[in-house]
Amino acid sequence: MSGVSIRVVGLVQGVGFRPFVWRLAHTLELSGEVWNDAAGVGIEAWGDAAALARFQERLRAEAPPLARIDALDATPLDGPAPSGFSIRPSREGVRSAGIVPDAATCPACRAEIADPRDRRFRYAFTNCTHCGPRLSIVTAIPYDRANTSMRAFTMCSACAAEYRDPSDRRFHAQPNACPVCGPRLWVEDASGPIAAPDPVLAVAAALRRGEIVAVKGIGGFHLACDAQDATAVAELRRRKHRDAKPFALMAREADIPQIAELSPHARALLRQPAAPIVLLPARPGALPEAIAPGQDRIGVMLPYTPLHHLLLEAAGVPLVMTSGNRADEPQVIDNAAAKRALAGIADLWLMHDRTIVNRLDDSVVVADPAAPAVLRRARGFAPAPLPLGDGFAALPPVLAMGGDLKSTFCLAAGGQAIVSHHIGDLAEARTHDDYRTAIRLYREIYGFEPAIVAVDLHDGYHATRWGEALAAESGATLVRVQHHHAHLAACLAEHGAAADVAPAWGWILDGLGMGADGHLWGGELLHADFKHFTRHAHVPLVAMPGGDAASRQPWRNLVAQLWTAFGPDWRREAAQVRTHLPSEPEIRVIERMIETGTNAPLAASTGRLFDAVAAALGLSQRVLSFEGEAAMRLEAVARPAIEATGPYPVAGLDLATLWRSILADLAAGAATGVIAARFHQTLAAMLADATPAVDRVVLSGGVLQNRVLARLLRARFAARGIPTLEPRLFPANDGGLALGQAAIAAVSATRTPAPDEG
Ligand code: ZN
Ligand code: ZN
Ligand code: FE
Repeated sequence: MSGVSIRVVGLVQGVGFRPFVWRLAHTLELSGEVWNDAAGVGIEAWGDAAALARFQERLRAEAPPLARIDALDATPLDGPAPSGFSIRPSREGVRSAGIVPDAATCPACRAEIADPRDRRFRYAFTNCTHCGPRLSIVTAIPYDRANTSMRAFTMCSACAAEYRDPSDRRFHAQPNACPVCGPRLWVEDASGPIAAPDPVLAVAAALRRGEIVAVKGIGGFHLACDAQDATAVAELRRRKHRDAKPFALMAREADIPQIAELSPHARALLRQPAAPIVLLPARPGALPEAIAPGQDRIGVMLPYTPLHHLLLEAAGVPLVMTSGNRADEPQVIDNAAAKRALAGIADLWLMHDRTIVNRLDDSVVVADPAAPAVLRRARGFAPAPLPLGDGFAALPPVLAMGGDLKSTFCLAAGGQAIVSHHIGDLAEARTHDDYRTAIRLYREIYGFEPAIVAVDLHDGYHATRWGEALAAESGATLVRVQHHHAHLAACLAEHGAAADVAPAWGWILDGLGMGADGHLWGGELLHADFKHFTRHAHVPLVAMPGGDAASRQPWRNLVAQLWTAFGPDWRREAAQVRTHLPSEPEIRVIERMIETGTNAPLAASTGRLFDAVAAALGLSQRVLSFEGEAAMRLEAVARPAIEATGPYPVAGLDLATLWRSILADLAAGAATGVIAARFHQTLAAMLADATPAVDRVVLSGGVLQNRVLARLLRARFAARGIPTLEPRLFPANDGGLALGQAAIAAVSATRTPAPDEG
C-alpha cells in the first residue's frame, strides 16, 4: 500500500472534476479524498503502486470535457491510509480557482431534451456539469448557486438529489434545473406577455412569417429573423439602422453546407464547447446579399443552448442571430431594457426569467486551416486563464487596461494571465460602465490586488485614464506601454515565451496606436522582448486629414495618400479612381489640412492604407458603417484573384510607386479584384523585403486578421526559411492588447529602462 499527493492546476473547478476523481478512485479501488482549493484540485490517494500509476494516467486521459489540466504534480505520501474515498466539502472562505467559460449544451443534455420520456423533454434550460451557463450568471465567488442568478430558483427534490450524488452528471451543477423548479420561457409583444402554450413554437411560426424576434440567450439578447427571407433581412437592417456590418447566423449543422463551405476543420471549430461564430466561405447566391454585404464569408454558429436547439428545430431554417442592441450600444441583457431598447425593432420577444449577470457577446473565429484565429474572444473562451512562460510566476500582479476599441483587460499573476471577455468600444457610456463593472467582478473572483497597472501610451484612451485613476487610488505602480510593442508581446506571451525571452522580430500591422515619438504608428517592424523594443522600419507616414474622421471616411485617406505620393498635382494622376470624391471645395479643405498639418496627424498606418486603396477601387462607401469595413471588402475581392497575380515592381517601402502602379491598372481598366490582389501581393513583398535575415517573425496587429495578407506574408517568409509566429487564441487586434501590456509591465517593473527605448 502506498500513498500519493496530487495537485491539479488548470480549469478544474465547476467542470465535474471532483466527481470524476471520485468515480475513478472507486473504479481503481483507491482510498483517500479530493477537494477544491485556491490553487485548483487537491487529491490524496492510497492503493497499490500499479493502481496509483494508472490513476494518474487516467486523470489526464479521461478528464471531463470542460476540464483543462495545465499541470499535474504528484509527490509520495506517508501515513495511514483512510478507509474509502470521499469528496471533502469546500470550506467556507476558501477562495476558488476561478470561473470556467460558458459551454454549449452537451450531447447528453441534447439527448434528454429530445426524449419524450425524459423529465427534461423540451426543457430550454437543461444543463449539467459538462455544459451550460457559467461566467454569464456569476455575481461573486465562490462559484456556488447562491452566487449566481440561479439563486432565485430553489431546486426540486429530484434536482437536489442529482446535485448531491457524486455518481450523477449533475453533481454540484450549480445551474441545475428542470421544468418543475427552474427558469421558464414566455413570449411578449410590444404591449406585454401574450398567450402561447409553447413559446418556442409560437416564435418559430413568427420567424417563418418574416417577423423579427428578440431572443434572450445566455450572454445577452439576439435579434433573429429567417436568414433566407430577403425582405425580413432588409427590414432588420432598416430597423436597426445597420448598413453593412455583417449579420451572424445560427444554423443546424446539417443545414450549413447549403449556405457555406463546411470543411472538417471548420466543423471542429463550430463544435467546440465555446460554440463560437465561425467565419466560413459563403456559397454564392445561397443567402440574401444583405446578410453580409460585400463579404465572401459568413459568420455561422451552431445552436449552443437548449433554447436555441429547440428554436432552430422548430424554425427549420438558418436564422440571423445578430446582437440585440440599438446602433452602437452594447447588447441588452435584461428584460425591461430589451423591451425599451428593441421597441420598434422586434415584433416579438422570447423572454425568460434567468437573469444574465455578465453580458457576453458571441466569440468569433476564422476558419483558416493554416492558421485558425480567434477574432473576438468572449462567450465560451473567457475567462479561461493562459499559462505564461517561465519566470512569470515570480513577478508582481499586473492589471492591464487594454485599449478603447474592442476593449478587454487582463489580470496577470502567479504565472498566468486572465484576459477578460470582449467588452467593446469604451467611447459608448454603457460599454464603459460594463468595463468598470467587469474589472470589479474579475478582481473579486480572483482575489486580485494589482501591484502594477499597465496602460497604453495614448493618454486620450478612456482605458488609460481609468487605469491612471485605479493606480492612484490603490498605490499601484503605473506602467505605460507602447501600443505595438504590446501587440508583439501578446503574441509572444500567448506562445509561452519566458519572461527573459530573447528579442523577437515582428511586423505589427495595425490601424492606429500612439508611437513613442508622438506620431501615430500602425505598420512597424519591431525588435522586442518583454522589456524594451527598437523600431527598425515602418510604412511611410501619411497625414490623416480630420484625425478620427479619416478613420471613418476612407476617401480622406485616399486624398492624403495621393497628395503625399504626387504632390499638389495629384488630381492629374488620380482621374481614374473609382470612387466618387466629394466636391472641390470639400477636397480643398482636406488639401489645406494636409499642407499645413492642421488637424492632420501623421500616421504610419497600414489600416488607413487599406482604406485608401479600397476607396480608390470604389469599394468603400463615403462613410464606413464599421471599422475595417473597407479593408474587409478589399480582402474579399482579392481572395479569388490572388493565385493568378503577382506583386507590382516596387523597391522598398515606396508608396508612390505602389500608387502609380495601382493608378496605371485603373487607367487600363483592370478588374477590381485583380488590383486588390496585386495590392496584397505588393504589400507582402514590400514588408518581407524590408525584413533582415532573422530567425523568426511575429505577425500581429488588427490588419493581420486579413487572411489573404497573413497567408502571403507567411509564404514569403517561409520561402526565405523564416518561420512566423501569429496570434491564435487571442485577437491580433486591440482585443489582445491587454495581454501584451500585462506581460511587458510585469517584466519591466523589475528593470531599469534601456537607453534605446522609444
Ligand atoms: Zn450537459
Ligand atoms: Zn427540478
Ligand atoms: Fe492596435
